[in-house]
Amino acid sequence: MQGVGFRPFVYRIARRQNLAGWVLNDTLGVLIEVEGDRGDVSMFLDVLEQDAPPLARIESVETQDLPLGGEEGFRILKSATCEGKEPVIPPDIATCEDCLREIFDPADRRFGYAFTNCTNCGPRYTIVKDTPYDRPRTSMSVFKMCKLCQKEYDSPEDRRFHAQPNACAACGPSLTLTDSRRTAVACDDPLRKTIELLKSGAVVAIKGLGGFHLACDATSDAAVGRLRKRKKRPYKPFAVMSQDTGSVSQYAYVSDLEREVLESYASPIVLLRKFSKAPPFKAGIISDLVAPNISDLGVMLPYTPLHHLLVRNNFLALVMTSGNLTDEPTIAANEVAFEKLSHIADNFLIHNREILIQNDDSIVKVIASEPVVMRRARGYVLEPLKLPGVGRDVPDILAVGAEEKGTVCFLKRGRAFMSQHLGDLKNRESILSFEKTATHIRRLLKVKPRIVAHDLHPMYSSTRYALRQSGAATIAVQHHYAHIAACLAENGVSKKVIGVSFDGVGLGTDDRTWGGEFFTADLTGFQRVGHLKYAYLPGGDAAAKEPYRMAISYLQAAFGKEAETPAHRLLKGIEKEKIDFVIRMIEKQINSPLTSSTGRLFDAAAALVGQCQINTYEGQAPMELESLVWSGRRHEQSYPYRIGNENDMMVVDVSPMIRRIVQDVGNGKTKPYVACKFHNTVAKYALEVCERIKKSRGLSSVALSGGVFQNKYLTERLVSLLEGKGFHVYKHKVVPPNDGSISLGQAAVAAYHHMKSGR
Ligand code: ZN
Ligand code: ZN
Ligand code: FE
Repeated sequence: MQGVGFRPFVYRIARRQNLAGWVLNDTLGVLIEVEGDRGDVSMFLDVLEQDAPPLARIESVETQDLPLGGEEGFRILKSATCEGKEPVIPPDIATCEDCLREIFDPADRRFGYAFTNCTNCGPRYTIVKDTPYDRPRTSMSVFKMCKLCQKEYDSPEDRRFHAQPNACAACGPSLTLTDSRRTAVACDDPLRKTIELLKSGAVVAIKGLGGFHLACDATSDAAVGRLRKRKKRPYKPFAVMSQDTGSVSQYAYVSDLEREVLESYASPIVLLRKFSKAPPFKAGIISDLVAPNISDLGVMLPYTPLHHLLVRNNFLALVMTSGNLTDEPTIAANEVAFEKLSHIADNFLIHNREILIQNDDSIVKVIASEPVVMRRARGYVLEPLKLPGVGRDVPDILAVGAEEKGTVCFLKRGRAFMSQHLGDLKNRESILSFEKTATHIRRLLKVKPRIVAHDLHPMYSSTRYALRQSGAATIAVQHHYAHIAACLAENGVSKKVIGVSFDGVGLGTDDRTWGGEFFTADLTGFQRVGHLKYAYLPGGDAAAKEPYRMAISYLQAAFGKEAETPAHRLLKGIEKEKIDFVIRMIEKQINSPLTSSTGRLFDAAAALVGQCQINTYEGQAPMELESLVWSGRRHEQSYPYRIGNENDMMVVDVSPMIRRIVQDVGNGKTKPYVACKFHNTVAKYALEVCERIKKSRGLSSVALSGGVFQNKYLTERLVSLLEGKGFHVYKHKVVPPNDGSISLGQAAVAAYHHMKSGR
């Protein structure tokens, strides 16, 4: 792979072992010829595999004995012609140990330099204009390297050999601190001054690697409160950044695996359980306002020299939340930041290295002992994924995803390149950013899609974008099937499985809104064999924002005309008139489409236990409901439900559960108790349906996908129930369970469709 420092690494270890020979990149990989003492050669091979640079993934090493060639010295040869070679764009990498040492070493020429990087670390994807990846085709092209930097760049012994973004304070990008009106703040050291401002409670917009963050001291209620008020974000959790895992361990639980992810070169935000108020831990080190009502805290470690220099020895944790306006993409350009964030930030810490494509912080959560990427962006993009059974001869494919958590996915020569997370395509800015990214990646990969895959929903902006592409065949892929296909694709599974797709909403093939689906499926097609019983979605999209509406819908299904009493009693804080209005809406079936969405069932439960009646951000009700489970004592009890049969399909009716929830709440059972019982019930009916499918169809593997499987408690419970009954379970790992991986599923389905039909 280009730009990952593999050849210089080979050069260095060959020299260390006194071996002669050469190394070159060719179309199939890296070719190395060494000659020397047998012991040295075998040592060389050991080191080659064990100490390879972080980005160089060694798939296999094949060796062959050759007659001695009498080589002298070790050389890096010019690469063989790259005809037919896929361009590779490495991801942005967190600062490496070596660079870190330099920026904190007063004797080093890069002491305190915020843009230090080397072949093993630094910006990549976010600064690349075009391929092949080379300095003139990056946003570093405007900086001319000084003599010292050039020397490093030119010498194979140096760890900055061909490090395209190489720079130092004398020749590279620099920082500027301004006030909210763009006036530069007079100071010797913008970084030092920024630290002072943050310590005094200021909100500072900081330009980073893939975009701006809004930063403030995470231990200060006043500062975090100010940021919440200005950003008009009363509850949505903010991510924080701490200098190292040791600091994180002062306020959140960190397992060995979580530590590994935190410290990985991708350096994502990791969702960690924060310490509760219960002894022996002291609460309140991190302001409660950082993630109110949520048991997790999103935590990341510094991943650029700028971040290290800001945080180390200065803050236990800084809030580092995306610098954007609600629902708009993260801002990457200085001009846009000044225009849009001046009412939020007191100051701006900007720099002059252009971010060519915005790239958010990735999010990872450990579920069932495995890291699961919840948001795939910085550190992972644009690494390709191999699709099972898809050959290099399949034509280029573009898949455009759904509407929420947008991504695009390009398929080229059997490999899938999924874009970074692009946010919800519900406003002009997001749609423009989506189109810009699609165009950008198309250029980087030099792909010419002949097939374009999209969602069934005709009104999604992504669908309309797909249908505007000329000269390509289009294929519509059902939303929840795309979810399952994504799970199969990333797990390399081409056999038939049971697909459990628990999700928010997506359009079904019967024109209804699905989201609680049981399929039998492989990448060539699916059959719907069961689903959650349809419920009314009073007000359509409004129901997703206002969970109490779904509560009323489920109460009406369970109690009929008697629904009014429990509705008024349980839905605290919602005016009587509003409740009666929704009741009439459903009775008269005005703007109340039918849905089998599991996400909406979680909404209803969150409202019924009195936790959340109105969402102030997407997913608030289900997230708070799960947090209740973690806040109390977990137990094994569950509610009753019925599995009926309609049109040859298993239909799960949860009315018995709803009636008992009303009873439990009425009898003063605690929120955590009811929340846990609710989760257990969903896992139980999912297991039962899977067992019935296993019995009738003989399938014993299950793929879990859909936004609901971001829920750790539910996922872990269902996985262990299924495994206990002998099922093999496929889950998401490197792409998200939510709509962020729909594009990958669509691409896989389109590829299989082509292989089957030739279209
Ligand atoms: Zn480095
Ligand atoms: Zn320099
Ligand atoms: Fe979905």
